[in-house]
Amino acid sequence: MIRASVRDALSRIQSAFPRREDLETLLSLSDPDETSYLHAKACAVRNTYCQERIAVRALIEISSVCKNSCNYCGLNRYNGEASRYTMSNNEVLKSGKLAASQGFMTVVLQSGENGRTTESIAQLIAQIKQEFPIAVSLSLGEHPYEDYLAWKRAGADRYLLRIESTDEDFYRSLHTDRSLSTRLECLAHLRRLGYQAGSGIMVGVPGQSISTIARDIQFFSENQFAMIGIGPFIPHPQTPLAKCPGGDPLLTLNTIAVTRIATKYPWMPATTALGSLNRDYRMEGLMAGANVIMPNFTPQRYKSQYAIYPNKQSRAETPESLEHLGKSANLAIDYGRCDSLLPEWNTCTPIA
Ligand code: SAH
Repeated sequence: MIRASVRDALSRIQSAFPRREDLETLLSLSDPDETSYLHAKACAVRNTYCQERIAVRALIEISSVCKNSCNYCGLNRYNGEASRYTMSNNEVLKSGKLAASQGFMTVVLQSGENGRTTESIAQLIAQIKQEFPIAVSLSLGEHPYEDYLAWKRAGADRYLLRIESTDEDFYRSLHTDRSLSTRLECLAHLRRLGYQAGSGIMVGVPGQSISTIARDIQFFSENQFAMIGIGPFIPHPQTPLAKCPGGDPLLTLNTIAVTRIATKYPWMPATTALGSLNRDYRMEGLMAGANVIMPNFTPQRYKSQYAIYPNKQSRAETPESLEHLGKSANLAIDYGRCDSLLPEWNTCTPIA
């Protein structure tokens, strides 16, 4: 049985700017009939706006060095027990080559902040673009405008920078030496430079409420991102949040579904974190409206060192395992670039 109030909230968030109360109603659903209804609606919206397919992106975690101090992340600079590595450009190129040879048309380069110089990253991007006809997404954290400019000029296509939270006080509580305004400024710079911009949040970070998540979804709806990553918070034992409970899988799935319905177009991964809980929830993520899988192409010897949270499942995937995921979710695997689906994307000003 689906309550009329749930049906009404769903149809309102589909057709107009989402009201906070409606988002909260839908995020809070726990009755199995109602959550199935919500997740099925999200899949229908995804299939209409993004087609019935899963984009695949090859993830390479290029460095675990970080000068930042995010309270939730195992790579924060105060974690003296974290192992730190930085892949050489040749090593990254080798991983990129492997991904390209398997048909991947996107690599995502992710790292902590300040693992390598601006110049060496620019060189790396240029080398990748020269050798392989693939899209390059960056996920390297907050940097000055000049860095983003250098990397765009070198050929980078996309940039992922999760907002983490739109609540200023909550944001500061998670990032003692950072402010929400800097994060927003970085996202504005990325857009101005013509990057396909991605954002997102974790679900279940201590101090976050349903109402915080609802406001974050309003932010996504207002600002339209090409990509939105949503995953559960997983406590890392060497962080200040070690003793806190992890994010709830159902609330994470509801957040994916509600975000899909409210924002329609973004590429949304069934995140690695969703696949790293007591079991692999990525399939449920796809069944709640997600449409990206990111196989891990970080060389084996570095995988365990990129420990943003414990037991991270860095699955490489095979064409068969991807086909299997696709079939089970009734979606085709799309090995293409899968660029932004936002209607206004083509009108973004490219940089000189
Ligand atoms: N340094 C880059 C990449 C960070 S890792 C950046 O700042 O953007 C990518 C994402 O992993 C983060 O944005 C965060 O939302 C998520 N993450 C970090 N620690 C986590 C944890 N303990 N549990 C779940 N997700 C986490």
